[in-house]
Amino acid sequence: AMRHLPYFCRGEVVKGFGRGSKELGIPTANFSEQVVESFPSDIATGIYYGWACVGNGDVHKMVLSIGWNPFYKNIKKSVETHIIHTFKEDFYGEILSIVITGYIRPEKNFDSLDALISAIQEDIEEAKRQLDLPEHLKLKEDNFFHLPEGKVVNNH
Ligand code: ADP
Ligand code: MG
Repeated sequence: AMRHLPYFCRGEVVKGFGRGSKELGIPTANFSEQVVESFPSDIATGIYYGWACVGNGDVHKMVLSIGWNPFYKNIKKSVETHIIHTFKEDFYGEILSIVITGYIRPEKNFDSLDALISAIQEDIEEAKRQLDLPEHLKLKEDNFFHLPEGKVVNNH
C-alpha cells in the first residue's frame, strides 16, 4: 500500500453520492471520476492520511479513503478526503490539493453505525499522531502547496 507514497494530487471537489458523511460529522470531499482515474490503478483501497489544502488556504491534516464507488457498481474507485479542520462553509467546486503520506488500514465492513463512527475517530487520532512525526510533517511545507496558480496574476 505504501509503494506509491507520498502521492500528490490536485483536483476539483465534486458532489458525492450523499451517503450522509456530513450527518455523521465526518464530511468527505470527493474528487471527480477523472481525477480518480489518474490514480495508479493498483493503489490499494483503504484508509490513508496526509495533508490537504483548499484553494490557497492553510494546509491541514486529513484522512482519506480510497474505496469502491457504489455509483459505478463498485468497478471504479472513489477518493474522499476528510480534512481535520472545521470549515465555515462548504467548498464544492474549489481546488483541493492533497499529499497522501501514509496508510492506516484496509476497507472494512462494520456491524453498526456506532462501530463505523468509532473506527473513523480512531483513524483520525492515528492520522494526527503519525502526521506529527518529522517524516510526515516535512510534507506539510512542500512547495506543492504553494503553487504559481495561487499567486495573484498581474496584467503583464
Ligand atoms: P458528498 O456526498 O457531496 O461528498 P459529504 O456529506 O461527504 O457530501 O460532504 C462533503 C462536503 O462537505 C465537501 O465537498 C465540502 O464542500 C464540505 N466540507 C465541509 N467541511 C469539510 C471537511 N472538514 N472535510 C471535507 N469536506 C468538508
Ligand atoms: Mg463525500
